[in-house]
Parts: sequence; C-alpha cells; structure tokens
Amino acid sequence: MAEESRREGGGDGQDGLDYGSRMDPGLIESNWDEVVEKFDDMNLKEELLRGIYAYGFEKPSAIQQRAIIPCIKGHDVIAQAQSGTGKTATFAISILQTIDEKKQSCQALILAPTRELAQQIQKVVIALGDYQDILCHACIGGTNVRSDIAKLEQGQHVVVGTPGRVYDMINRNALDTRFIRMFVLDEADEMLSRGFKDQIYDVFRKMPSNTQVVLLSATMPMEVLDVTKRFMRDPVRILVKKEELTLEGIKQFYVQVEKEEWKLETLCDLYETLTITQAVIFVNTRRKVDWLTEKMHSRDFTVSSMHGDMEQKDRDIIMKEFRSGSSRVLITTDLLARGIDVQQVSLVINYDLPANRENYIHRIGRGGRFGRKGVAINFITRDDERMLKDIEVFYNTQVDEMPMNVADLI
Ligand code: ADP
Repeated sequence: MAEESRREGGGDGQDGLDYGSRMDPGLIESNWDEVVEKFDDMNLKEELLRGIYAYGFEKPSAIQQRAIIPCIKGHDVIAQAQSGTGKTATFAISILQTIDEKKQSCQALILAPTRELAQQIQKVVIALGDYQDILCHACIGGTNVRSDIAKLEQGQHVVVGTPGRVYDMINRNALDTRFIRMFVLDEADEMLSRGFKDQIYDVFRKMPSNTQVVLLSATMPMEVLDVTKRFMRDPVRILVKKEELTLEGIKQFYVQVEKEEWKLETLCDLYETLTITQAVIFVNTRRKVDWLTEKMHSRDFTVSSMHGDMEQKDRDIIMKEFRSGSSRVLITTDLLARGIDVQQVSLVINYDLPANRENYIHRIGRGGRFGRKGVAINFITRDDERMLKDIEVFYNTQVDEMPMNVADLI
C-alpha cells in the first residue's frame, strides 16, 4: 500500500511529530541573510528566466529571494517558509538552473510525502522549464511499474517521487543514481518523521557521496533540525520563528459544537459559505471521510472526497475535478494537508482538529495561497478546547469565535 497510507488519518496522535514542548527556539537559528530581489539579478539561464516570466511570476517571494542562490551555489540548504509562499519554485528554479540538459541522466531527485504532491511538483518543474529541454518524471506508487521503468529508461533529468516507488526503481536499476547532484526533500519534517525516515535513509544511501541536500517545509521542529546534522554538511539555514508561521491573511475561527454529534449540523449550516469559492474539510480518519461524505450526500449536498484507501486513478480524477473547480467542496484526511496548491481554496474546515500542531499549520495553509485571503474554521468539542488553546499559545496566534458574517471574509 501507499507510503502515505501509514501517515494519514491519524487521530490517535501517534503518527505526527508532537514535539512541541521540548522545542527550544534559541538553539538553531538562521545563518543566511543575503537577499536577491529580482529574478533578473540571479544570473539565471535565459531560457529559465523566460520560463519563470511566462509562468506569470514577476518578482521572487521572500524565500525565493533568499534560498535560490545558496541552492544554485551548491550548498546544503534548509529552507523554511510559511505555507503558500513559493517553496516549490524555490527548488524547481534551482534545479533547472543547475541541470545540464545535454546529459540524458537523472541529475536531481525530489522526494515528497504523497503522490498528489509529487505530481503537482512535476507539473511546476515542467512548466518553469518550458523553454529548456528538460525531462521530468513523477515516480509514484499506484501506477504501472513497467511504464515507470520505460519512462526512466528514456533518461529523465529530474525525478520527483514518493519514497517507496523511487526506492523500488533504484533497486531495479531503472533509476540510475550515479549522476544525481541534488537531493530535495519537500515537506522535510514529515519525510524525516517516524513513518518515513527509514525509507528516506534507504534512498539517501544510494546517492553519490557528494550529492547536495536541500530540505524544505513550513514547519521545522527542533528535533528534525537536530537529525539533519547527521546527513547535511554545514547547511545554509533559512528559518522562521514558530510565532511567525501563521499568516495574517488567514483568519482563524472556532465554532463551539459541544459534542461530536453536533458537528454535522454545523457543517450543513455552513454549506453555502463553503461554496463561495472552494473549501477543504479535514477529518482524522479515512472511515470518517466516507461516513461524512455519505451523510452530506444523503442530505443532497454536493461534496467530493478523497483518502489513501482509494484507487490511484480515482484519486487522480478527484484531484483533477477539484483543481479545475468543477468540484468545490473536498472532504479529506491529512493526506492532503501538505503541499497541495489550489489557489481558489479560501476556506479550510477542521471538522476534527489535527493530531499534531504541525499539521494545523499545513491544513490551514491550503487556503490563502501566495498572500490571498483565507478563513479557517475549527469545530471544537469540549474535549478539544485544551488542544486549541495549546495551538494558540504555541503559534502566538488568535482563534476567535466565528462571527455571523464569516461569509463576508471569504
Ligand atoms: P509552498 O510550497 O511554499 O506552500 P507553493 O510553492 O505551492 O507554496 O506556491 C504557492 C503559490 O504561489 C503557487 O500557486 C505558486 O504558483 C505561486 N507563486 C510562487 N512563487 C511565486 C512568485 N514569485 N510570484 C507569483 N506567484 C508565485
């Protein structure tokens, strides 16, 4: 089964990185403050620059202004930045700059925690590299192994994948690792957490010894930063204080529902609001995704749903419909908490609070992409009150009671 299957859902607090109380923000700090404010001043290849502008980017975001140059220079890099602020293009541009297109070998490997995220990253690499001769393949579970091998045999400059399938391809000698110069872990804290760590190390051991390592995420718990010492060389660190992780553009609210049984009614009352633009509803288990979807359908509300027990081809269809806007309300698990970029999403509902603090940041970050407005609404039972307080204190943020006019804020 899929590598992400062990990771999503949770709800029991066992899956996540619940490190909070032991975190010491004073221990590891940023050590890089050079800023390049324009793409034009980054000495990029002309075709790449064209690709960037043609994609619609005018100016690099804060993380791009800081992290692209050290990545291109070949440093190991740990790049943290708030959700939706352009981390994907940060490593995509760095890779596209350093690839030698004339060599038909894999020169950069990107690992991501879910198939959907790997596919999304592949699209960004291909789009930004539109004026270069770049081949980029998504190597993910749930797809045909033979066609994966065939694709790799054609020679791909960049491979982006989920750890299980990538490792499989390396072991079958379908993915030649000898020329990989850059190894990128997106959602790095998730990738280095319990469920994935061994798989990541297995892949890492197959990299040439001089491979550059780049880690990215919106959340970087101290324990993760600590383990990076084992496999990174004097990394450039660009970090964000946890108090600065929540975005001003995303308003956070709670609805006091008292009991679990009252959540459904509350959600139905909010349905009009959900469909103003697009909304994602997070619950903590796959079974609950199915249950809630069924309940909503039986009340004639249109919703779609996705979780890791579904067939990959069905997952692809659901994602496609949601990305195109033909479906507007998506019920899911933490499978989609990280990385997924659908610009029209302006409302996130935590029907259940996530099992760890990191995923709270990632979930609410599905809305309000790249500085857009967003609203996050948390359904809070009596049992959740403490957890919500904990989130507020940890991120030094405010979660207010949902106002009557919440629709006006979307
Ligand atoms: P992150 O990985 O930091 O959560 P993404 O890389 O998914 O964020 O980017 C979020 C959105 O911002 C995407 O839709 C992306 O196309 C857009 N974006 C990224 N960089 C820029 C830029 N420099 N200018 C305009 N839009 C950008």
